Formats: sequence, structure tokens, C-alpha cells
Amino acid sequence: MSTVIAIDGPAAAGKGTLARRLAAELGLPHLDTGLIYRAVARRVLDRGADPRDAAVAEREARALLAADLGRDDLRGPEADMAASAVSALPGVRAALLAFQREFGRDGAVLDGRDIGTVVFPEALVKLFVTASVEARARRRFEELRAKGVPTDPAQVESDLRRRDMQDAARRAAPLRAAPDALLLDTTTLDIEAAFDAALALVRERLTAGAEARRG
Ligand code: C5P
Repeated sequence: MSTVIAIDGPAAAGKGTLARRLAAELGLPHLDTGLIYRAVARRVLDRGADPRDAAVAEREARALLAADLGRDDLRGPEADMAASAVSALPGVRAALLAFQREFGRDGAVLDGRDIGTVVFPEALVKLFVTASVEARARRRFEELRAKGVPTDPAQVESDLRRRDMQDAARRAAPLRAAPDALLLDTTTLDIEAAFDAALALVRERLTAGAEARRG
């Protein structure tokens, strides 16, 4: 069985950075699945359509190209909320499933919201990375400030809460930890400490998996 590492959690919990570093450490490819939803949302916005329009969003999800993931306008408040809107549509999720499964076929690290519950429910390792909403809002605010984007901390926190609520309340693949996921709370951890903790959990699961296979 190939090594799939599923990393899920709410926005700005640090899963993207952890996934990228774990992939580099373990020599596996990495897919930030949030980018796929962001790219679909951008294509819908390009058409001047509403991201909640199921017919347009599904059509754009089916037409998605690899090059769309390299666009430089996939981050920021507008893309955040539009991605959350298109990702609540079951037809959009269905259209993007095969691409994600194909990517992970020979082993990969994928981060998102439903990797351990829907995309790879049989993944060898599942991490659910979280942090307090205040810590996550602070990190996102610092990120935006570093990029020179003018923002208000209270607005960042309320956008984050709204997006998490929307992602967790939807019927299609809601944000939640798989029952067999290992929880990692990064509230009080800096990136180095979070990476060390994540790597220790991953190694523990990989070793347990190898032992179980040996019987
Ligand atoms: O992870 P990121 O914040 O880039 O994701 C953007 C949005 O895409 C999320 O708020 C969520 O609505 C959606 N998403 C999802 N399933 C995934 C990854 C992202 O629904 N696997």
C-alpha cells in the first residue's frame, strides 16, 4: 500500500507548511488541495458568475487545468470566501475527486479539509491540525501584513470564523477529523516545534503500519 499522508484542519492552522515540510522530509509529492478549490473559484469569478452557482462552478471544475493552480490571485479574502462557496457544491467536489486520488496513487502528502474522511479514507497516516481561532487569526493577519496587504485584525478573525463555520456546516464533505486521525494542536507551537511534533506522529503511525503488515 502506498504511503498517503492526509492532513486536514481549519484555515490557517499551519497544515500547508507542515504538509510541505513533511513531504520534503519523506521524499513524497505534496498537493495543497485548497488550491484546487481556489482555482475553480477564480474561474467562476472570471466569468462574472456567483461562486454559489452550481451549474457554472461544476462546469469550471470539470474544465480545470493544471496551469490554473499556478495563478497568482488564488489567495486573499475574496478567493478565500469564493473557494469556500464552490467547495460546498457536491458536483464540484465530485469533479475534483479523481484528480486528487490520482495524485496520491503512488504515495503523497495531501492537505485540505476532507482528505482523511473522503479522498483517502484508508490513508496510512491522518493528522488533524488545529489551533485556537485567535492564534490562527493572528498568524493570518501577520501573513497578510508581511505581504503588504492592508488588513484589520478583527476583520481577519471574523472572516476566518465565517469560513470555518461554512466549511464545517456544509453537507458535502464537511470539515471534521476522521475518527482515526491524530490530533495536533499548534496553538502554542512555533513552526519548528509543530513540525517536530507532526513528524514524530507520522513516524509513529508509519512504524505501527509496517508492524501491522508484518503481522
Ligand atoms: O486550505 P485553504 O484555506 O486554501 O482552502 C480554501 C477553501 O477550500 C476552504 O475554506 C474550503 O472551503 C475548501 N477546501 C475544501 N476541501 C479541501 C480543501 C479546501 O473544501 N480538501
